[in-house]
Amino acid sequence: MIEGSVIEVRDLTVRYGAAVALDGVSLTVGAGEMVALIGPNGAGKSTLVNTLSGILRPASGRVTIGGRLAQVPEGRQMFPDLTVDDNLRLGGWRVRNRDTGPIYEVLPDLVKLRRRRAGLLSGGQQQMVAVGRALMSRPDVLAVDELSLGLAPLVVADLVRHLRELNAERGLAVLLIEQNARIALDLCTRAYVLEAGRIAVSGSAEELAASPTVAAAYLGAD
Ligand code: ATP
Repeated sequence: MIEGSVIEVRDLTVRYGAAVALDGVSLTVGAGEMVALIGPNGAGKSTLVNTLSGILRPASGRVTIGGRLAQVPEGRQMFPDLTVDDNLRLGGWRVRNRDTGPIYEVLPDLVKLRRRRAGLLSGGQQQMVAVGRALMSRPDVLAVDELSLGLAPLVVADLVRHLRELNAERGLAVLLIEQNARIALDLCTRAYVLEAGRIAVSGSAEELAASPTVAAAYLGAD
């Protein structure tokens, strides 16, 4: 493993039966780094996250996680009938951490919602709970799958602000998996573009934002 990295993916190939979903993908996330993985529907982003978290097994290649990885899953995956506090507590189950107090300090908007059933919350509030639940395992790196999906820009901006703070104040590394390249390139310092199971381009966020091909495919005209 490269020293100082929290995620290292080398030549990763993942198949569903005969279909190749990831084809020789390599990427790294350094300790305390914010890295984006962008790409269209079906590019293989969810396959990559699920391989990082051990849900899927690679056909070949290697995934190394240095430290603790927590996932903010696509679609939030709340337990709708449980309260916010109980949903948070479930995030600490594996490390036997039941103390949700620190999460309310980091995400104070959740304080007034703590006794509310998660199924009654807005999408943005649920996403906030999903981030808090992931933090309960005291991770070194967060893999955030489609943070912005279905959320209003102001709500996304608030979530992004929290991720920035966690990164700046606690050195939390983030792998942001996003279809919305603008949000991803704004938040992260480096990015990879995944297309049809392969890394098509990678570089600094500035380089990618300035690249005519990336702009045309992912940033739209403005
Ligand atoms: P999305 O943004 O729609 O979630 P994605 O970039 O996350 O897309 P994946 O869901 O990882 O892409 O899918 C990558 C490829 O693997 C796609 O061609 C998809 O059809 C295929 N695929 C995904 N899951 C399965 C499965 N369980 N069985 C067979 N093929 C699958």
